[in-house]
Amino acid sequence: FRTNTIRFFKLLMILFTSRITMHTSDSDVSSSLSTLSLEGQFSFHDMSHAAKDFGNRFQLLPSAVLQPKSVSDISTTIKHVYQMGARSQLTVAAQGHRHSLQGQAQAPGGVVIQMESFKGPGIQVQQGKLPYVDVAGGELWINLLKETLKYGLAPKSWTDYLHLTVGGTLSNAGISGQAFRHGPQISNVYQLEIVTGKGEVMTCSPAENADLFYGVLGGLGQFGIITRARIALEPAPKMVKWVRVLYSNFTTFTQDQEMLIAAENTFDYIEGFVVINRTGILNNWRSSFSPQDPVQASHFTSDGKTLFCLEMTMNFNPDETEIMNKEIYMLLSKLRYIPSTLFQSEVTYVEFLDRVHVSELKLRAKGLWEVPHPWLNLLIPRSKIHNFADGVFGNILRDSSNGPILLYPLNKSKWDNRTSVVIPDEEVFYLVAFLSSAPSSANHDTLESALKLNADILDFCKQADIGMKQYLPYYTKEEDWRTHFGSRWKVFAQRKLDYDPLAILAPGQRIFRKTT
Ligand code: FAD
Repeated sequence: FRTNTIRFFKLLMILFTSRITMHTSDSDVSSSLSTLSLEGQFSFHDMSHAAKDFGNRFQLLPSAVLQPKSVSDISTTIKHVYQMGARSQLTVAAQGHRHSLQGQAQAPGGVVIQMESFKGPGIQVQQGKLPYVDVAGGELWINLLKETLKYGLAPKSWTDYLHLTVGGTLSNAGISGQAFRHGPQISNVYQLEIVTGKGEVMTCSPAENADLFYGVLGGLGQFGIITRARIALEPAPKMVKWVRVLYSNFTTFTQDQEMLIAAENTFDYIEGFVVINRTGILNNWRSSFSPQDPVQASHFTSDGKTLFCLEMTMNFNPDETEIMNKEIYMLLSKLRYIPSTLFQSEVTYVEFLDRVHVSELKLRAKGLWEVPHPWLNLLIPRSKIHNFADGVFGNILRDSSNGPILLYPLNKSKWDNRTSVVIPDEEVFYLVAFLSSAPSSANHDTLESALKLNADILDFCKQADIGMKQYLPYYTKEEDWRTHFGSRWKVFAQRKLDYDPLAILAPGQRIFRKTT
């Protein structure tokens, strides 16, 4: 009897362990998900669109795509995957506007949640002393802008391109030329609604569930899905004066940039870019920028040198034109650009903020938008920006015909170190963005050579001890992620355990692996 009892328990154990290690097949996935009671719907066929992104290099097919119609749809789906536990390899990726570069919003074999399908109660503007807007995580910034402008208001901090979702940019940081003053977009959020990796719906803010709030901001989608965000607003200007000037000396260029971002009375937007070895650059510039003095502008060529363009704007309303012009004159008189290279233009606020969309339409018409984009975005500490420039511009990189290279300084004091984003540990640091395109038609622009240049730049940063941090980081090994986060890895990993213990969320970031 005793031997039989032992055998029976052994058999039970085998059955039990085989059940928990048995993985769910594709057909099991669709049958289990289709039993869920949802307002939105799943699709299990023709999911190739969910395996694409702007980078156009990674295509990882999911098993199912959810078009949610409510927060409860998102919560029910995640709870279901969570409860399947180790029996299933299913992961879940929130997908915004799919403008990631290396498959970060994809879920190989998992569930993709198309956030743009869920609009919630719509875009709700609150006027008053501290105006704000409540908006669904899958809303595009361009729609947010158009709605808030109806109230004479607008968000304070932007990205250069507005056809990105609120949840997508808040999962990174959201940086543009206003960030020196207002901080990145993640510094301008009052409250979030989150569905965690356990399927719980939580409201969070600096006063309520603060750890989750800060964790999600810049958290690369690891701790929860942003279903709603409350974003700070300010009075919106009607017009923008848009100014560009050129430098041939990197030191003078960066000193002027730093002087401008430190000043109290300064421009409203400050960026810059690098032009290497291109002649007749102004013909290319004018694709989205029309200087008032085209005759003077067209006389200027770069003669094959490396030039640095400082780009600034000042907001104004039509009745403030005179005072705005005086202020600009004052500010420009302090700068040391090449005198014949002052180009100015006046556009509406929307035209300025939505400027990259104009280029997008032109590139789309030529079939040059949906090409591979081997972009590399780096944050470089101020103390090393000259070493970096010496090593990279005109040296590793001998021309900039593959795409723009942005370079502008940011103030660390405008970033909140409780968020998950990682930045260099210096008061001023630079965003340097290599925004390359690799159309297959152009022999010298092959993807491989662009990726090789990126690898060389990263290698140079390591060898020269630049103290660089990647923005929109891409690593595939845990040790590289640990290095990226440095002393903050412990907090990041603990937050993962707290809010997404099975590592279900955002598998495309390749930071944590679901344990099965
Ligand atoms: P997706 O690519 O769909 O998702 C990005 C990541 O966020 C994924 O891991 C995804 O799972 C996660 N995610 C998406 N939605 C949510 C959600 N609701 N909740 C939680 N996680 C979510 N960035 C800047 O900072 N400044 C710029 O000026 C700038 N300009 C850009 C211009 C272009 C043309 C492009 C293509 C990108 C630019 N970016 C810029 C980068 C951009 O901010 C990021 O790629 C951003 O993630 C894109 O948003 P998305 O809606 O397409 O997100």
